[in-house]
Amino acid sequence: MDTCGIFEKFDLQNNLLKEYKYWYLLIRKKQKNIGSCVVILKEHAFPLQQVSPEAMAEYATITREIELSLQKSFDAYLVQHLCLMFVDKHIHFHLLPRYKEVFNFENKEWIDNQSPNPFEQTDIELNQEYLNLIKNKLLENIK
Ligand SMILES: [Zn+2]
Repeated sequence: MDTCGIFEKFDLQNNLLKEYKYWYLLIRKKQKNIGSCVVILKEHAFPLQQVSPEAMAEYATITREIELSLQKSFDAYLVQHLCLMFVDKHIHFHLLPRYKEVFNFENKEWIDNQSPNPFEQTDIELNQEYLNLIKNKLLENIK
């Protein structure tokens, strides 16, 4: 079992969307926009050049699946992929969907601030119940 703490940090147990051969796809506990995700390599590899071509090919598959799901589920306009490792030795990508329109989901209004810099968009803390609704919606649209 991996003991570096990354899977606890992102709460794999509660927030796993889908397990792949090389990666885990999770929704982020803190959502910037609705459907914010993180894709974490299962093994240690650092920096990005250490990730195998097979794992990178699988990342392309994950990209297709989650981007299409975000589009279908919440009408995402595009998805920003950010690889920001500094502390963790697991390569991981933050997937931050962006929106042109205000989106209403389960009595909550989601508004994209339209800044090209996703870090100018506030992290929104949600309870697990609401996170599960987002997760289930995304899963409906992932094959
Ligand atoms: Zn680890």
